[in-house]
Amino acid sequence: MALKVNEIFYSIQGESTYAGCPCVFVRLTGCNLRCSYCDTQYAYEAGEDLAFSDIVNQIASHQCSLVEVTGGEPLIQKETPALIHDLLEKGYKVLLETNGSQDIGQVDDRCITILDVKCPSSGEANKNDWDNLSKLTEGDEIKFVIGDREDYDYAKKVLDHNNISTSGVNAVHLSPLHGKMAPKDLAKWILEDHLNVRLHLQLHKVVWDPNQRGE
Ligand code: SF4
Repeated sequence: MALKVNEIFYSIQGESTYAGCPCVFVRLTGCNLRCSYCDTQYAYEAGEDLAFSDIVNQIASHQCSLVEVTGGEPLIQKETPALIHDLLEKGYKVLLETNGSQDIGQVDDRCITILDVKCPSSGEANKNDWDNLSKLTEGDEIKFVIGDREDYDYAKKVLDHNNISTSGVNAVHLSPLHGKMAPKDLAKWILEDHLNVRLHLQLHKVVWDPNQRGE
């Protein structure tokens, strides 16, 4: 089995409760969405077909037990759930970062899914697959990237409507869009509304140059 891979690299996890942990990233090629703020456009097309054994060998070379499968959108390649399963069987802790438009039901429950819910300013909010919310398990996490007040109100409505704060996911993150949404304004809104969420800053963009790829 093989997957089209854009890059495999070792860095600090930046977008979940695992933020700050050393992690090997497997960035798969291709995405079905075109978010207005996308910072991984280089992954839309470029990549090479790698056999699972090559991917696993590259991961192993980094001597790190935490692996994140990301993109692009990893679930548009049909072999992705099989790679996740293989990595779990080898004893890795596996995170999956997915854009929320693809069915997560095919992914091994031991994998920690970090599910994006796209808000209006992404331009792709109509692509959310709402059935995914009921497929999340207690280790999984939800992330909303917030670009403005309309996005915040949208996220709040989604959380209220689906009763998400009590549905057994590990965390719900509201992440201010880098360079557009002031973190302190988002923090103020969260506190005013007593939301049971985490204000999440993209740690890798604080640590590294925000425009640098492969970090
Ligand atoms: S889902 Fe992610 S990779 Fe795809 S366009 Fe949106 S931000 Fe970019």
